[in-house]
Amino acid sequence: MASQTLPDSVIIVGAGIFGLSTALAIARRYPDPKVTVIDRQTPPVEDGTSVDTTRCIRSVYADPDYGRLAAKAQRMIEADPELKPHYFKQGMSFITSGRPGPLLEVWKKGLAHLESQGKGGSVVHMKTPEEVFQRVHGKGAEPAPDSKLSKERSWNYGYCNLEDAFIDAKESIRVCYERCLEQPSITFRCGVPVHRISIQNGRATGVVLENGEVLAAGLTLVAAGAWSPRLVDLEGMIASSAIEVAWIKLTDEEVAKWKNMSITTNLNTGLNLFPPHKGETKILRRSPGYKNTVTVPHPEDPSKTLQTSIPRTTVSNPTDVIPFEAEVGLRDQLREIMPSLADRPFDRTKLCWLSHTSSSDFIIAPHPRIQGLHVATGGSGHAWKFLPIIGDLVLDSVHDKLPKNLKDKWAYAPKGADMGNASMLRGEIKELRDYVRSSDDGVRSRL
Ligand SMILES: Cc1cc2nc3c(=O)[nH]c(=O)nc-3n(C[C@H](O)[C@H](O)[C@H](O)COP(=O)(O)OP(=O)(O)OC[C@H]3O[C@@H](n4cnc5c(N)ncnc54)[C@H](O)[C@@H]3O)c2cc1C
Repeated sequence: MASQTLPDSVIIVGAGIFGLSTALAIARRYPDPKVTVIDRQTPPVEDGTSVDTTRCIRSVYADPDYGRLAAKAQRMIEADPELKPHYFKQGMSFITSGRPGPLLEVWKKGLAHLESQGKGGSVVHMKTPEEVFQRVHGKGAEPAPDSKLSKERSWNYGYCNLEDAFIDAKESIRVCYERCLEQPSITFRCGVPVHRISIQNGRATGVVLENGEVLAAGLTLVAAGAWSPRLVDLEGMIASSAIEVAWIKLTDEEVAKWKNMSITTNLNTGLNLFPPHKGETKILRRSPGYKNTVTVPHPEDPSKTLQTSIPRTTVSNPTDVIPFEAEVGLRDQLREIMPSLADRPFDRTKLCWLSHTSSSDFIIAPHPRIQGLHVATGGSGHAWKFLPIIGDLVLDSVHDKLPKNLKDKWAYAPKGADMGNASMLRGEIKELRDYVRSSDDGVRSRL
């Protein structure tokens, strides 16, 4: 679709950052086309990847394209009077054990890149475990001695980039949804999932909902996040997998003590620890994670089936809690950096689903075989921060106007190796059914 116009009707499947941002971009550029955003639920979608208490906003990337785009998006968030109240610029610390491995290289590249950009003034260096610990707990706080740790020390040295921030992702998505509602050309159909894309003679003609209703459109965009492989054959380019997240309620004294801490992340162990927000702290582990392999009808040929992983969440399984081994992993990590919380009950937990590509590059491209069908997915653990600009880029892709470097990077084609844009720990992605745990069952060990 190379011309700078759009068909009269556009369907967007998915009201996460890709879908909402694109709906707004279309409405702002072209008031006439009727845009229908369809989601399983009403935004902010509780189990959608874009909805959470916090997301990191950072602009230091080894990849210059993401770095430039992230810096632009961050400036837009800071200048946006409705997003600004949900944005907290408290810095982000990147800590390493210093032991060799691919993530040590990512850590080194991140620091070198920051310094090469002349941003040394916004960096605080931590040269010892004591300095790392005190950046979280305040001057004079002492980390546990080696004799009290069951494992080799992991929080040894690092740096904090004071330019980085976190944002309340749920409230920001609410802002974005409400902006869409104000646009006369955008309507929402929430509550009934899309069953499949309608395809006639190699052309997408809209969607069929799970209740059998058919909705027609001249252009259909699949922005269904980790659910996307259910609707388009992504040929293994994305892995839908989930990582563990937990929340711990804090006392007023703890909130006062930690309220100015930075997001604190360990690039060897994958732990992310967030500053207090609304009386609680969030922790997550960028572990290899879990998948939920199921057999589904082939999206392009319903007479065939396809094996793929799609999210299993608390919407369909309300009593699910994170696997036992995931809980153990989070607590093990807290023992060294946040010892007073290591045995505190979790208020709640969840598995957060990612649509992850091998290189962490997104897929924003026309479907190679089906006319009138576009895809915007593969957010890979780092797409949220692009919320203010990603919709315009999707629209540029629809018009085949993306600069060549972005068109190539986001092509509907197999991706390359991980370049450290959103690194996850390496290892086997486990089948969730073997580890699933319900709050009704109590603790079931698979260690
Ligand atoms: C634990 C975790 C931490 C992260 N941290 C960061 C971070 O700090 N910074 C950052 O920039 N990024 C981060 N990310 C990545 C970022 O959150 C995602 O890349 C981004 O939110 C993905 O958005 P999306 O629109 O693709 O998916 P989603 O938000 O999941 O939206 C997809 C929508 O499609 C809907 N849908 C699916 N199937 C159907 C159907 N059949 N019919 C109708 N609707 C359907 C779903 O209900 C959902 O609302 C993180 C991700 C995770 C998992």
